[in-house]
Amino acid sequence: MTEKWIVGVDLGGTTIKLAFINMNGEILHKWEIPTDNSNEGQNITRNIANTINQKLEQLKEQKSKLVGLGMGAPGPVDYNTGIIRNVVNLGWKDNFPLQESLQTLTELPVAIENDANCAALGEMWNGAGKGTSDLVCVTLGTGVGGGVIANGNIVRGISGAAGEIGHITSIPVGGAPCNCGKTGCLETIASATGIVRLAEIELSNAGAKGQLAKIHQDNGKVTAKDVFDCARVQDELATKILDEVALHLGFALANIANTLNPELIVLGGGVSRAGDILLNKVKENFSQYAFTSVRESTNLALATLGNDAGAIGAAWLIKNKLAK
Ligand code: ZN
Repeated sequence: MTEKWIVGVDLGGTTIKLAFINMNGEILHKWEIPTDNSNEGQNITRNIANTINQKLEQLKEQKSKLVGLGMGAPGPVDYNTGIIRNVVNLGWKDNFPLQESLQTLTELPVAIENDANCAALGEMWNGAGKGTSDLVCVTLGTGVGGGVIANGNIVRGISGAAGEIGHITSIPVGGAPCNCGKTGCLETIASATGIVRLAEIELSNAGAKGQLAKIHQDNGKVTAKDVFDCARVQDELATKILDEVALHLGFALANIANTLNPELIVLGGGVSRAGDILLNKVKENFSQYAFTSVRESTNLALATLGNDAGAIGAAWLIKNKLAK
């Protein structure tokens, strides 16, 4: 039997990542197109359908090679209807019928899921959590996303809002404002934006000195990567920020694990590229706040799929849906 392919799509605010993926979750071909937010986002689904046809032509493959399309989208999605509720930065009006539009234009079966959930599914299928069916994935990027998988299924909650790990309240009183409208969310501390925010508070002190302060002086700003790089060479200020980030992350993840006792918690997203310097400190705090039997059975690890996790997880989604 000839091999069938799945289309995995990871829709972002600036680029759309696409991949042809085999039934084992391996990427065979991947490419990107820019996200066209104009015309109330009406071009997005059309551009996806067109680029898939062009890629097939380029590879001299027939449309019949494809069994379906899975997509991770940056917003709350109704999994049953494929309606995306509100995604302001993509130009869509509220309740855009994303699945229906894609199905019509691509002539393929389509499944849509929130992008953080797709990243969790990707890591479960062919990444850090391969072989696991109880996994929590936290994506540390510009914001903080979360995906919870229990018994091999995404935990969606009554309105699709489960797994919003970024909006766990870390600072109950006096925390920084979050994009969601609350204050003191984990995202205001453990995202790239949050780390820079913490750094800027520290660097605004008159006595700020050391390597991170020097970078700030030279460039007029610092990045989350600067903070980790400086912490790696024991810069005092950077270490203090890292300690704070790891404390809140370890604390939140321990409480999640105390509730779910997953086999694995995966740290992904751009911030997780900091690697062991972050992971080890998060583990220390996790150990402190996790219930004994949870501490002994739930492991923490870095994601292994990088930017591909979303597309791979999206492909798993449609594969799983078609198998039912
Ligand atoms: Zn929030």
